[in-house]
Amino acid sequence: VPELPEVEYAARTLRRAALGRRIVAAAAPSAGRRLFRPGTPAAVVRALAGARLAAVERRGKHLLLTLEARRGPLGLLSHLGMTGRWLARDAAAPAAPHARLTLRLQGGRALDYDDPRLFGRLRLVPGARFDAVPELAALGPDPLHDGVEAAWLEAALGRTRRPVKVALLDQRLLAGLGNIHAAEACWRARLDPRRRADRLGPARARALAAAIRASLRHALAAMEGPELVYVEAGGPNPFRVYAREGERCPRCRAAIRRTVQAQRSTFWCPGCQR
Ligand SMILES: [Zn+2]
Repeated sequence: VPELPEVEYAARTLRRAALGRRIVAAAAPSAGRRLFRPGTPAAVVRALAGARLAAVERRGKHLLLTLEARRGPLGLLSHLGMTGRWLARDAAAPAAPHARLTLRLQGGRALDYDDPRLFGRLRLVPGARFDAVPELAALGPDPLHDGVEAAWLEAALGRTRRPVKVALLDQRLLAGLGNIHAAEACWRARLDPRRRADRLGPARARALAAAIRASLRHALAAMEGPELVYVEAGGPNPFRVYAREGERCPRCRAAIRRTVQAQRSTFWCPGCQR
């Protein structure tokens, strides 16, 4: 499932393949219409054809594409949901199997937005006024762009009594972590994911802030190939505890456990996380 590193990877793919280029044709089969709500695939195709990609930004797990269209700036907000990916290819090569939006670019390349399960979102933002989009305005700081400072993290987590791993999933607190990196960061910080967020103390907050940075850096470094395959779709598992229930902890050799918190699986090590 895409989290900050995978979305950052998508931003890089988009920039490398399409930045500065004009979209000569766009297509979106109606099977993917759910992704375009509350708009329609036809409206997105109409708006994007002929536009030039001027900027690609990432905020948390959101991609913000700014286009220069016939009638001025236009935004496209892309959220990858559970299975979304942006893939670049030669325009002559076959489209991705679950391509929901295909952009043919000036210069012979093409971009596919591929999303088998359709939990992603693709939405036009008039005037590229992303600041007027409520879900973006509500996001907390982005760990990659804004950093994660220990004192700030301790104060932010101090405002909730939820278990620390559950609090880390809250995009209003910190934008970009999901189920994988919240668990990985707790493991790296030797922190019990069930511990109350408002009872960390400065030493654990410091360890957690460093762990969040390290976990994201590790994942970004592992994504160098031309195409990304999510762990859940059979890709390699570069994580220390995520999806490793019953395996040995790489630090203390105890068996990794799976616990359910807020309806999500948490993987953690009872041997070394306190
Ligand atoms: Zn352990």
